Amino acid sequence: MILILTPNIDEHSPEYCQLMRHLSDLPNLELRIHSEQGMEKSLTEVHLIGNTSGLSEEHLRSLPAVEHVVRVSEAYRVLGRHAGDHRAVGFSYQGIRFGQDNLNVFAGLCAVDTPRHVEMMMRALRDCGQVCTRMGAYKPRTSPYSFQGHGKKCLPYVFELGGRYGIKIIAMEVTRESHIDEIHEALEMTGNPTGVMLQIGTRNTQNFELLKSVGRQHEFPVLIKRSYGITLDESLHAAEYLASEGNTKVVFALRGTKTNNCDPHRNSVDFAFVPVVKRLTRMPVCIDPSHSVGTRASGPEGILDIMHVTAQGVIAGANMILVDFHPAPARALVDGPQALHLDQLELFLEDIQIAREAYEKRLELNSRHSFSSERYAQVLAPDVLKTAVTTENVIAA
Ligand code: PEP
Ligand code: MN
Repeated sequence: MILILTPNIDEHSPEYCQLMRHLSDLPNLELRIHSEQGMEKSLTEVHLIGNTSGLSEEHLRSLPAVEHVVRVSEAYRVLGRHAGDHRAVGFSYQGIRFGQDNLNVFAGLCAVDTPRHVEMMMRALRDCGQVCTRMGAYKPRTSPYSFQGHGKKCLPYVFELGGRYGIKIIAMEVTRESHIDEIHEALEMTGNPTGVMLQIGTRNTQNFELLKSVGRQHEFPVLIKRSYGITLDESLHAAEYLASEGNTKVVFALRGTKTNNCDPHRNSVDFAFVPVVKRLTRMPVCIDPSHSVGTRASGPEGILDIMHVTAQGVIAGANMILVDFHPAPARALVDGPQALHLDQLELFLEDIQIAREAYEKRLELNSRHSFSSERYAQVLAPDVLKTAVTTENVIAA
């Protein structure tokens, strides 16, 4: 169960202390406090962990400082959507909002190679009005003999160039806890010219110790990728690890799953799950068309497969796009075959705009017919929706 306290509650106030005394007397329950400083107010939640079936919601609601009580109906305690749950969706970072109702684009280098390429990328982004990018410094590679990323030595110039070209957030994968400290130090050293969104890659989705470390820090938001080899439910549980440690600034990325049935694409595109993740959780949903498709091939009409699947994700309501570009893909040290050319950036952004407008029209059409998912659940498919949100049967030990 989750108790949502009155906004801006002071933890030394008599009501708060009285509430805590009362809750601590309840037998066999662990209390976890989650506090978050929003733009305008601070919000505190008390999570009651253990068997809460005997507790009355009405009684809890009557306790001092309690504004709202949510009975947890989903396995994803913090990030999930629960019945009667009106908690805010999304977060802001560096003045940029991440929600389930808007869209941010992170186009950039899969891996940082040279300062010149970083600068060319940043300049192209600025010229197209972009303020976010991706830049890999730590690269987890299939072969130990492949380029592993420049690591911390490239961070100062990446951050400085980011600041120079007005980039506010750089998505950057980390594979161990010390990378977070290295990023933090490099940002300090360069005068915090930009922000960073830490990325958990598909190979580390279930690296629970890494998730706990990234979740324990609250400075940087996190982009966690769905693992390419496990169920969606297992990946959503992985995201919950971050939140259970206190970091709820989490975006969930779909990047395709591994199977040879999807050849000649690199992975099986799973963007049909955009609305599913939004229904099951309160996380904004990112799509990564580059790692899903893995090739710059195009159809006979000339449209790139990567742009087709991006449009498919956006028209289904995606909230973020992570996509590989490179000034000279043939010379890229990682994933060159899937990187788009810089002169395709404008086209890519305009194509997204078309898909986003189509999504907004679809929303408007749907609301005109007031054919909400709730009504759908009642009228047409009660069992289908129920099955989709019941995760207990697939939770691994
Ligand atoms: C990446 O985004 O650079 C990456 C390695 O992606 P993934 O973890 O999805 O393979
Ligand atoms: Mn890559």
